[in-house]
Amino acid sequence: MSSLDFYNFDVVVVGAGHAGVEAALAAARLGARTALLTMSCDTVAQMSCNPAIGGVAKGQIVREIDALGGEMGRIIDATGIQFRMLNSGKGPAMHSPRAQADKKAYQFEMKWRVEQQENLSLRQELVEGLETQNGKITGVRVAGGTSYTAKTVILTTGTFLKAIMHTGETQSEGGRAGEKSAHGISGQLLGLGFELQRFKTGTPARINGRTIDFSKCEPQPGDDHPQPFSYLTDKITQTQMDCHLTATTPEMHALIQANLSRAPMYSGQIESTGPRYCPSIEDKVVRFADKSSHQIFLEPEGRNTLEYYCNGISTSLPRDVQDRMIRMIPGLENSDIMRFGYAVEYDFAPPTQLFATMETRRIEGLYFAGQLNGTTGYEEAAGQGLLAGINAALKVAGRKPFILDRSQAYLGVLVDDLVTKGVDEPYRMFTSRAEYRMLLRQDNADRRLTPLGIELGTVCSERAAKLKTHEEEILRAQAAIMNTRHQGNTLEEWLRRPEIGWSDVEKMSPELAQLAVSDLCKRHVEIEVQYAGYIRRQEAEIAKLQKVDSVRIPATFSFSGVPQLRHEAREKLGKLQPTTVGQASRVSGITPADIAVLMMYIRAGEKSENTSSE
Ligand SMILES: Cc1cc2nc3c(=O)[nH]c(=O)nc-3n(C[C@H](O)[C@H](O)[C@H](O)COP(=O)(O)OP(=O)(O)OC[C@H]3O[C@@H](n4cnc5c(N)ncnc54)[C@H](O)[C@@H]3O)c2cc1C
Repeated sequence: MSSLDFYNFDVVVVGAGHAGVEAALAAARLGARTALLTMSCDTVAQMSCNPAIGGVAKGQIVREIDALGGEMGRIIDATGIQFRMLNSGKGPAMHSPRAQADKKAYQFEMKWRVEQQENLSLRQELVEGLETQNGKITGVRVAGGTSYTAKTVILTTGTFLKAIMHTGETQSEGGRAGEKSAHGISGQLLGLGFELQRFKTGTPARINGRTIDFSKCEPQPGDDHPQPFSYLTDKITQTQMDCHLTATTPEMHALIQANLSRAPMYSGQIESTGPRYCPSIEDKVVRFADKSSHQIFLEPEGRNTLEYYCNGISTSLPRDVQDRMIRMIPGLENSDIMRFGYAVEYDFAPPTQLFATMETRRIEGLYFAGQLNGTTGYEEAAGQGLLAGINAALKVAGRKPFILDRSQAYLGVLVDDLVTKGVDEPYRMFTSRAEYRMLLRQDNADRRLTPLGIELGTVCSERAAKLKTHEEEILRAQAAIMNTRHQGNTLEEWLRRPEIGWSDVEKMSPELAQLAVSDLCKRHVEIEVQYAGYIRRQEAEIAKLQKVDSVRIPATFSFSGVPQLRHEAREKLGKLQPTTVGQASRVSGITPADIAVLMMYIRAGEKSENTSSE
């Protein structure tokens, strides 16, 4: 290898946050020579905010990342300190795994996996510029002037672009407490014709657990039978830690109200939009003025630290106000604040500037993933990173791109929402965003996606073998319940009754109880039987929609050349250049009538093409 080769890669990933690590691992596993360049090797996969992975809809995303060969699920299984299945009392589409993480252990474990990966170089570099030629990316320039050449570049710079942190009237530069802000890239993106906007997000104070009076708080234990995130993990064996529940008080709300003029969001110091579904405590006190109390979860940040994260009171109020308000909370009267809360404002690139491969429309070979695209959350970032990494490596290899649709995965919903609708506030995933959520369950992500991962080459042989065993077990379990009778009915018929579960039908048949299949298989077959009606209906809907959805719009199609389209539709579709009629139909403001006109034109174009080639 010549010394130049140390600076010459197929894929360069900028930023080793949650998006960056998945992008780099996926690209390297697909055989691309990959470099992961990041400001500090000590902050790989750092959790900037809450020490937890998963949650409603986010847990499903982690299962999907895992099913495609990504890393997040395996790392949280290895380093989690408390596991819970949220919404387990609701229907199966809502079941969502969540785990508290040992924050530092999570980082170290992820860094270790990155370091071990063939084809992947992790380097501490501050990227200051992008290098392009004739509308194509050719590399990046790092602090000190060294250049890396690359066939593709994936930017995953998170909250760091021109980032400013706020605590009360105090402002400082940085994408995260104690870290720098990234300059250079924003100006250059603007110069290349990209649009950038500003969002904000915030984080609460961290407290020393030695100074918390837990007797005044309610313990929140994990599940008795914790379920892993990864299909490769057989069992969670580590002991679990409790979280604790406390709440804000009317006295604290009055203090916040009295100091609103000093809160950057209310004083006008911050003008950008924050995550509506993750509001600061000052926002909650104003928006829900009739509520005298809000829950606070005290979450341990790890096994080897006493630091506790105060989930529910994210704030950018000044330090002196935080000092007083925290001590108005039951259990925290004498608490020692280790880190104060703050808000951060940063540049993001509206994601309608991307193709569904995460490649930018403006510069060939340049991809964006993660918070840079206006999303919020580790899981949303990791999912985008994985898809961008896969697509960058496929492009280098001259292979066809990998795009998931809305009926296949939450990841498909995520990307389609981003590139088609764009964002007007930090985007997080909800189950309600997925129209086929009965099919996109956490229990079946492997059956939906691992076969695609096998075809792509992102999935290891162990995972492929596990899926094969799982499929065989499902067939055996299905055959057993169809062929075994109890009091005149098959066990399948018994299982269809809502009050009957797998453990009940096992009691009806000793042979079934002896069947050697996994708990996941039993649960899966139970859901598929009990919800067969819903599942069939959603599958029929997908089949119907796919006829329209999959009609391709030629890359050369000129929307301005369709006079029957309304002016707004011509303008929006022309700007976005959707690649299918389905995508066009989901652009905000596009009506069924616009789609009917579009279909007519595309069909007419296809006909004339067919006739001329006859
Ligand atoms: C204060 C704060 C509060 C937050 N609150 C929440 C919340 O309440 N809920 C929630 O879901 N999410 C929250 N987040 C967001 C969450 O941290 C992100 O969604 C997630 O980390 C995004 O992952 P990412 O990989 O896109 O970016 P990040 O995790 O931010 O990683 C970006 C990486 O890129 C590196 N980098 C950036 N620029 C350069 C450069 N020029 N050269 C080299 N390396 C570079 C950085 O060092 C970092 O390692 C918060 C973030 C912050 C900072």
